[in-house]
Amino acid sequence: MKTRTFNPIILMLALLAASAAVAKYVDISREKIVNLDNITEVSPGVHVIEDKQHIFLVPNITIIVGTDAALIVDTGLGIESAQRVLSEARKLAGNRKLYLTVTHFHPEHGFGAQVFKGQATIIYNRAQRDELLKKGAPFQALFADKLSVADAMKGVKLVTPDIVYDSEAQIDLGGRVVKLNYYKPAHTLGDQVISIPAQGVVILGDLLETQSFPIMPWFPELSDTDVNPANWREIFRNVAATNPVVVIPGHGQVGTAADLDEAARHMDFASKEVTQRCAAGNDLSSIQRDLTPILVAQHPDWDLKDMIPMEIQAYYERLCRR
Ligand SMILES: [Zn+2]
Repeated sequence: MKTRTFNPIILMLALLAASAAVAKYVDISREKIVNLDNITEVSPGVHVIEDKQHIFLVPNITIIVGTDAALIVDTGLGIESAQRVLSEARKLAGNRKLYLTVTHFHPEHGFGAQVFKGQATIIYNRAQRDELLKKGAPFQALFADKLSVADAMKGVKLVTPDIVYDSEAQIDLGGRVVKLNYYKPAHTLGDQVISIPAQGVVILGDLLETQSFPIMPWFPELSDTDVNPANWREIFRNVAATNPVVVIPGHGQVGTAADLDEAARHMDFASKEVTQRCAAGNDLSSIQRDLTPILVAQHPDWDLKDMIPMEIQAYYERLCRR
């Protein structure tokens, strides 16, 4: 009988194979489906499917109901979330006419719009429509390949809006007038600010995340380096001047004007620090290394700390490379 001995090389290969099996792709799309238990009426006729648990890639979705029509703002990531949103909108609005708009083109906000085609009149600003056509496919691939939500991206087709506006549009839902405003490139090229001025409600999409560091996309590999922090601050000033009472962020819990002020203070401090540090001759990586812990220490309870180096890079590229 042949005696079996352990060959250390074979043992090592077996261990490597086992660890590769452990590291194999796990799809997390189901964790990203909107939760209808989280629906809250934040102002009369304004219902938010709220990101109460701060789940990455789960956005806030707003359904605004008037006497004649309802407007849905954002769809969630993929078809199943959008189907849930549409059914909730139908529950709240009955047979009223439906409109859909999307705060900006990013997948977790608008890559379910196809579910609404033919059910709702879809309205975007021109910059957002154009950005969706240009970046939609690369972002669909990015989310499927890098963010482990390939299942949610399956079957997603990018749809174009029925109505396009340039800088401002108004929808009278019946006793409730909603304004859609496009200002300038900020978080993306086509961010919309949606508001109900008579009720002091403003929906900011990813221009604001409550209790969180901002998301400043800087993806040269996707030809996406369009973030503009200076414009972003200008939009905050425009919004603050309207004295909002209920501030609905892209992610995180619904807030107030105080959340907007706090986000603005953070951006002012961080951008000033980056400007001073690069003027003193520091390169990007040393600024990221030194400034990140300072920013974390100012808001130890904020989410998305791993977005800070990219935020610093956005200021650096915009403010220092002149
Ligand atoms: Zn976004």
